[in-house]
Amino acid sequence: MEPLGQDQIRASFVNCTKGEAKGVTLPARPDEIPWDEREFLGWRDPKATARAYLVLPYQGETVGLSLRVAPRPKGRVLLSNMCGLCTTTHPLSDIALFSGRRAGKLGREGNTLGIYACSNLGCSRYIRGELKPDVPQPSETLTLEERVFRLEDKLHRFVERVLESR
Ligand SMILES: [Zn+2]
Repeated sequence: MEPLGQDQIRASFVNCTKGEAKGVTLPARPDEIPWDEREFLGWRDPKATARAYLVLPYQGETVGLSLRVAPRPKGRVLLSNMCGLCTTTHPLSDIALFSGRRAGKLGREGNTLGIYACSNLGCSRYIRGELKPDVPQPSETLTLEERVFRLEDKLHRFVERVLESR
């Protein structure tokens, strides 16, 4: 993705109030991020780990999503141990349910959307082998380019649904 400045990141949020967007703790300094090896910027808020953010290019604009990280359900089995974005398989402890209010009318009615994903949102790093999951992966013969495409496709589908009633 193209590099973004802090102001652009703060201005990108579509599903939270301006006040909330102002309070977002940004990730590493923009000049420390290897932008050309990232399909999206995703991070857990270091000051509030139950919050997470996704910022990505979408149809010519920069879209930021503010998400809640669900606490692990007690006594219930998680539905998936596969990341819904990069399809990396993890031990359940490395998968989290991220949910976000939808933008616009549906969001005002309290409608949210969730997705199971790598709990550290390191998808771009997993598909490049920069991070290794703790369990063996199903064998796959996709090229990096194909993995990038799949990740972007899944990100876009999620964003599309969040923005549906904007
Ligand atoms: Zn992932």
